[in-house]
Parts: sequence; structure tokens; C-alpha cells
Amino acid sequence: MANCCVKYPHEASKTTFGVPKNIEERNKWENALKTDLKKSYRVCASHFKDSDIKSTWESGEGENKYRICLKVPKLLDGAIPSVIIKKDENCQIEAKRRKVNKVLNN
Ligand SMILES: [Zn+2]
Repeated sequence: MANCCVKYPHEASKTTFGVPKNIEERNKWENALKTDLKKSYRVCASHFKDSDIKSTWESGEGENKYRICLKVPKLLDGAIPSVIIKKDENCQIEAKRRKVNKVLNN
């Protein structure tokens, strides 16, 4: 199974994306994630906005319009990941745990 290469502690999404083959694009990702990315690295969906990920495919017009859920979500061109993940509940849980530990140590 592919793992997310972002070292920042987070709950990795099962959906991962390969880093861009284009060097310019990859540099943007490296800057955004503040890490060196190898070609084989994967970045999980948690680092992207929902709007950056295309998980459905639409076709047809009007009444004939239909939508198919993609088995493998695609990343929109030019999407840049960020280290700060959209779900910040993890950080809050982490903060609570620390508080508990502190109490226990006293
Ligand atoms: Zn991740």
C-alpha cells in the first residue's frame, strides 16, 4: 500500500496521488510541503482541497446528464498540496492528550 510522504503527523487518507512528473510542478509541491519529493513518493488526499480532487465524471446534457464516481480520484491540473490538512480535529485531540499527560505527570 502506498503511504503518504508528508512527515507532518496526520491521519493519512487512503487516497494518494503520485508527485508530478513535471519538474516545475514538483518544485511547487516541494515548496508547499517543505520536503524533497522523489518520483515514487505519494501524497495523500488530506493535503488537497476537495475542489482540487475530481472524484466524479460527468457527461451528457440536460436530462441525459449523468455522473459516474471514479474508482480512482484524479487530481486537477495545477493542484498544489499543503502540509496543513483540512481536518484539524487531529490536532485538537493531540492537544487534549498532551494536557492529560501533563495532569498525570503532576
Ligand atoms: Zn498525507
